[in-house]
Amino acid sequence: MNGHEKMPKKASNLISSIIQCKCARCRQGDMFIEKNPYKKGAMKMHDKCEVCGQPMEMEVGFYYGSGYVSYALSVALSVATFIAWWVLIGFSLDDNRIFYWLIANGVALGLLQPVLMRLARAGWLAIFVRYNKNWKERPAEKAERMIKEWQNGW
Ligand SMILES: [Zn+2]
Repeated sequence: MNGHEKMPKKASNLISSIIQCKCARCRQGDMFIEKNPYKKGAMKMHDKCEVCGQPMEMEVGFYYGSGYVSYALSVALSVATFIAWWVLIGFSLDDNRIFYWLIANGVALGLLQPVLMRLARAGWLAIFVRYNKNWKERPAEKAERMIKEWQNGW
């Protein structure tokens, strides 16, 4: 069964809708065409939300700024792994444990990059598009300054 995503259901909260990369406006439609972030073309997005019609790209280069969000997520994750390593393994100046953390953290960030980039886009969209629980009654605003050929081109 593939039609179940479009069935109306209770809207999720902001955090879980970002984690699931849902449209910021209705929190039901998917932002990305491909569900698996590790598949080829995972950053390809729908032109607009399939549920409420919200354009996924507000203007040319809209997601450029999401790079900062994914950077911030990477930093936050590094802090988290640093603290976890500190508690579980500890750091010492007498051995190489801090380098092991650096390597492990670098590998983890590298592996998680596709997920972080998608999360960053979902978060970025949620900054500019407010959740509207009356999305059914109100049509989505049209994207401005949108050039079709430039979409997904960077
Ligand atoms: Zn939507």
